[in-house]
Parts: sequence; structure tokens; C-alpha cells
Amino acid sequence: MRKVSIFGATGSIGQNTIDLIRRAPDAYDVVALTGGANIARLAADAAALRADVAVTAYEDRLPDLRAALAGTGVEAAAGQAALVEAAARPADWIMSAIVGAAGLAPGLEALKHGTTLALANKESLVCAGALLLETAGQYGARLLPVDSEHSAVFQGLAGEDIDAVERIIITASGGAFRDWPLEDLPDASLAQASSHPNWDMGQRITIDSASMFNKALEVIETREYFGVRPEQIEVLVHPESLVHALVGFNDGALMAHLGAPDMRHAIGYALHWPERQDLPVERLDLARIGQLNFRAPDPARYPALHLAYEVMERGGMMGAAFNAAKEQALDDFIAGRIRFTDMAAVTETALERMSAERDLIDAAMTLDNVTRVDHLARQQAARAAEERIG
Ligand code: NDP
Repeated sequence: MRKVSIFGATGSIGQNTIDLIRRAPDAYDVVALTGGANIARLAADAAALRADVAVTAYEDRLPDLRAALAGTGVEAAAGQAALVEAAARPADWIMSAIVGAAGLAPGLEALKHGTTLALANKESLVCAGALLLETAGQYGARLLPVDSEHSAVFQGLAGEDIDAVERIIITASGGAFRDWPLEDLPDASLAQASSHPNWDMGQRITIDSASMFNKALEVIETREYFGVRPEQIEVLVHPESLVHALVGFNDGALMAHLGAPDMRHAIGYALHWPERQDLPVERLDLARIGQLNFRAPDPARYPALHLAYEVMERGGMMGAAFNAAKEQALDDFIAGRIRFTDMAAVTETALERMSAERDLIDAAMTLDNVTRVDHLARQQAARAAEERIG
């Protein structure tokens, strides 16, 4: 039996992972499941899967978790240290699906124990890609991409020489406001931004898809994961979300990966890699679909996208600053403090100010330094938001 743990088990990716694991109960021995505020879901899944331990990120929720797990034999734990401790428990495969920079410390710890880390938590790669890759190399661990675009690129590169790659194209649905008049964007509501045309995902990534902050993170993730140059990475708006990525080679060939917009494909690929196994995902009927559309992203509609290239050009720990400023701006939008279009402006201002912190941005990439950059960038973004509110 393979020992598996799922971090962020109560979220959209976590639940899709559990769905796959439940289909083959004899194949997996569940070590740890973690969640945040959704104690009922966490306890129910931990009991059903007979996990060794269930961890909530919030210490004040430990009594609730203990009560919900009473009599099940599953250990209850809470807080950041408990998340890291759970990541240290031996497992063959760990799903990293906590949302945001909070996924970095447990992911890093898991790599130190030589595991295979299936990485949905793109934020950790954006914040500290070099540190994660170096740690994986040092401890003989493996990182597998779970983002659908990066899984698609990974599959497109199987058996290929990375030096023969000219370009990598990742696609974007264009999000909720793809076809809205530009002048309406400032008034986009939280509910409107939280609905995705094709994918069923957590709220934060859904809003990030509407603003294209999600694609901006993915551009940086592509650079970190595959080691290509920023100018080799392109983004195409593809409203159908059926082609997830394309890899262009030096002989002019362009290899596309197609699949239904169902995260169980990318999760299942990472779960079974290097083999392929049957997955419960829809098979595409291209004759019925008939037509696939592509267009260049409009910079006026998606100002967040170009920030990714500025962040890569600046280097150092600007990725951590970018992610943190974006997370803070998103918190402010969700709380109704700033407008939808303010998120890009606030993040840009925060990045300009973080650029001035040369010593910090160019310091050695350690977890402590990434955390310092993260905190300062959140403060800068909060300040920039206050200034916009006036
Ligand atoms: P969700 O919001 O649905 O789930 C997030 C998970 O993280 C939940 O288990 C949540 O717990 C937990 N969590 C939230 N805050 C914290 C915290 N501070 N510390 C520890 N755990 C926390 O997100 P998604 O599943 O949509 O996304 C997860 C990751 O996967 C993100 O990095 C996202 O970018 C990436 N991803 C998601 C895709 C998707 O289709 N959803 C596609 C590709 C990538 P609780 O809910 O109990 O509070």
C-alpha cells in the first residue's frame, strides 16, 4: 500500500484527490489530512479514510476537531507547527493543495523527507522556487506538477530534450470577465468574480483567473519548474479550456495537450506517474466540439499578466513579494475594501516599493527570508490599498 497525505484536503483540489483515492481504497494508506476552517469535512474524511492524523491550520479549532474525531481513532492536531510535523511523517506521495503562501513550509518539510510532492500549491513555487528545487535535489525528493497547464507541459516534454524546446504556451480561459466591456470591470462584484466559465475551483483561484493573477503566477511557475527563459513563455486565451498547454520545439512542431476541464486528470497523472491509469474523466468528442478558439490576452483587460515578467526580470525574492502583495490585494477585494481593478494597481505599487528593499530582495533564499519578504510585501500592499481608498 502506498502511504499518502493530503494537505488542503478540504479544498477543491483536496476533495478531487480524495475522490481518486476513495476509488481504490486498498491501494492507499492515508497518513495525514489537513484543512483549515472546515472541521466537519476534515473529520468526516479523516475518519472515512482512517487517516493517522487530521490537522487544522487554526489552533483555536482544535477542540472542535477533537470533538468531531472522538471515537474514530484518528489523532487531532492544530496550528502551523502541527502542519509541518504532519509533513514530516513518512509518506510515499503527498498532495500539496493548501491555498497561498501557507503551503510553503509544509511542502518544504515534506521534501526534506525525500517524498514525492504533487504540487498544486503554485504559490510556493512562485515564492521560493529555487529553494524548493534545491531542497528536492538535496534530499532525493521529487516535485510533480498538478496545475493543469504544467501537468500538460510535463506530459508534452516526456522523452524530449529541454534544449530542443523553443517556447511553452500556457492557455487561459480568460475568466469571468473575458467578454465584459472594459469600463464595467471596476464595478465587478465579488459574486461575479467568483464564478468561472469552465472550471469548478476554490474561490481565491477563481477570482485570480478573472484578474489573470492566476496566469501570472503560472508564468513564473513555468519558469521555475521547467527552467526556461521568460521570453520563451507565452499565454494564449482559449475560452474552451480544452487545450491546457502547448510545447513548441526547434523543428517547428507544436505539441498540444487536450483534456476535459477536470482536475482529476492532472491529479491522477501525478498520483500514478510514471504510469498512466484509467481516470474517471470525460473523454473529449472533438467532432461534437467542432471548434477551438485562441486569442492573445488583452493587456488592458489583464494588467496583472505583465507584472509576472517584471518580477522575473527583477529576480531575487520578488516572486515572494509578488505573491504576498497579490494575496493581500485579494483579501482586500474579498473584504470589499477595494475594487476588482484595484488589485492589479495595488500589487504594482507594492512591487515598486519592494524593489527599493534591495538587500532583502537579494538576500539568500531561506524560509525565514521568504517569510520576511512576504510580511513586508503584505504591509506594502495594505498601505497601497489604504491610499487608493483615500
Ligand atoms: P480551496 O480554497 O478550495 O482549498 C484550500 C485548502 O487550503 C483548504 O483545505 C483550506 O482549508 C486550506 N487552507 C486555507 N487557508 C489555509 C492556511 N492558512 N493554512 C493551511 N491551510 C489552509 O483551494 P483550491 O483547492 O482551489 O486550491 C488549492 C491550491 O491548488 C492553490 O494553490 C491553487 O492555486 C491550486 N490549484 C487549484 C486548482 C483548482 O482547480 N482548484 C487548479 C490548479 C491549481 P478550509 O477550506 O478547511 O478552510
